[in-house]
Amino acid sequence: MSGELERAAALIREGRLVAFPTETVYGLGANALDAAAVGRIFTVKGRPSTSPLIVHVASIEMARELASVWPDAAQRLAERHWPGPLTLVVPKQPHVPDTVTAGLQTVGLRMPAHPMALELIRRSGVPIAAPSANVFMQLSPTSAEHVRAGLGAAVDMILDGGSTPVGIESTVVSLVGQRPVLLRAGMISREEIEALIGPVEVAGSADAGAHAAPGMHARHYSPRTRLVLVRDRAVPARGRGVYLAPGGRMPAEPQGYAAALYATLHELDGQGWDWIAVEEPPEEPAWEGIRDRLRRASARV
Ligand code: AMP
Ligand code: MG
Repeated sequence: MSGELERAAALIREGRLVAFPTETVYGLGANALDAAAVGRIFTVKGRPSTSPLIVHVASIEMARELASVWPDAAQRLAERHWPGPLTLVVPKQPHVPDTVTAGLQTVGLRMPAHPMALELIRRSGVPIAAPSANVFMQLSPTSAEHVRAGLGAAVDMILDGGSTPVGIESTVVSLVGQRPVLLRAGMISREEIEALIGPVEVAGSADAGAHAAPGMHARHYSPRTRLVLVRDRAVPARGRGVYLAPGGRMPAEPQGYAAALYATLHELDGQGWDWIAVEEPPEEPAWEGIRDRLRRASARV
């Protein structure tokens, strides 16, 4: 494994693309300080250049070198939740290429809680820009097999670390405005963040409108099969499909549910169903990231 990591780190330093596991989903990584390498990520994914990438670091110190301002709130959140599934958006240093941030003067930073990801960053010696390792708008990969099936030969190397334990993308919090803003829900809930830094606005709400995040599309994270959100088992009357509910085909607990969600959707997607009906999970903080992904996966536009 260490030989493989060394080869992967060498590829990153040479400006090539390496897919690697994090605790959330598999990432498609490139040297974040190499604009040409980062440009290849957008090409391979078919991702619009208006959608900024998260930069992965191996320590708080490494994050601070990329930030022109490191607010107290960032320090508090990083100390409590890094390594972990929480991305912090802060003002960027000039040496962070515009390609990474989609031209914004801010950068999203995260220290992933996965030994292979951390080792790859350390051995490369550079921060690694990485979106999910899938074609734009499709389901995120939670195994090396998903990456192979989706991107295959377009990637220079795929590091296989098995299934990703968290299973949905990180919570994203912006710390650039007057007030912190939740840009994307995830398994670290707004409640947990507010416990550390006080009130957090939610992007899309009237108050937070001015900070609305680029790269937030209503339809995203979608299987090809039509996904419908239902209540009380009210599945579509026509066609054949599968019904997913916590405690039924899906784990009853949010952590287990999130970890299983994309793998389940990947699998069902290959089975030719007319629909996948998903019972609306509870309106509780622990489920808010899952509810967000299901809403987007079921959006028709
Ligand atoms: P992805 O890498 O596809 O999982 O998505 C990255 C997420 O981070 C998206 O929701 C982006 O909008 C968000 N993001 C990354 N960098 C920034 C930034 N500088 N400002 C605002 N949002 C960001
Ligand atoms: Mg993605």
